[in-house]
Amino acid sequence: MAEIRGQLSKMDVSLSSGGVADYKMVLGEQSVAMQPFIGRKIKLIFDGKIYCQACSSMTEKSFSRGFCFPCSQRLAQCDLCMMKPETCHFISGTCRDFKWGKEVCMKDHIVYLANSSGIKVGVTRIGQVPTRWIDQGATQTLPIFRTRSRYQSGLLEMVLKNHVSDKTNWRTMLRGVADPVDLIFMRNLLMCKFNDEIRILQQRFDESAITPLCEDIMLTIHYPVQFYPKIVRSLDFNEMSEIDGVLQGMKGQYLILNIGVVNIRKFSGYQITMIL
Ligand SMILES: [Zn+2]
Repeated sequence: MAEIRGQLSKMDVSLSSGGVADYKMVLGEQSVAMQPFIGRKIKLIFDGKIYCQACSSMTEKSFSRGFCFPCSQRLAQCDLCMMKPETCHFISGTCRDFKWGKEVCMKDHIVYLANSSGIKVGVTRIGQVPTRWIDQGATQTLPIFRTRSRYQSGLLEMVLKNHVSDKTNWRTMLRGVADPVDLIFMRNLLMCKFNDEIRILQQRFDESAITPLCEDIMLTIHYPVQFYPKIVRSLDFNEMSEIDGVLQGMKGQYLILNIGVVNIRKFSGYQITMIL
């Protein structure tokens, strides 16, 4: 039996050559590949301490998924514009951290279609692919635009949101594999339907700012899940200090256990002991 203790971070995800998502639990400096433990009992114990992921000070409560209150008010990554890229205010000179904004938001982004619980549209930085898709539990993905900044991707997303959702229904995502959809057909439909709106945005920025991606490279992602739950019960370290059950698999940022699911990302900074 192994016992690993440390501050929890979001699971480290990657895509294996066979198109299967690989998962590692990260506790402080240590990381553990979780696939070998599917079908086995695991225990997670929260000792009551939460540490801010930016300044390392202890905090009673976690803000913006893993920060103390002052850091959540100060850091650019906790600003509201991270949830709403169309409100990026870097250009107006009011970014909370100019250097950070330049490195994160003023870099090439993509607008993509994904199927996690049905078709959705999303935005991510080029370097975040395929991590972002695995974090959302997407089973099919298709990049449809490349833009020069997060803001431009956000504006395109706003247009496409008129026809497809920008949300994942996490309960549906965790209940099974989403029915396959034709993302290429949907991309073509969106390009036609919003042709005028897209052209207006292209004219607003310089010519190379917004590039439609017309290659048919749809990615399929498989998740290491033995059994999907019929009823999704969310387990919360704020309500129970010990989570003890049989690991059935991983999808999105969730551990699926026989007794319920744990959103690992939600508990970033929590001091956890994992017994395998
Ligand atoms: Zn802090």
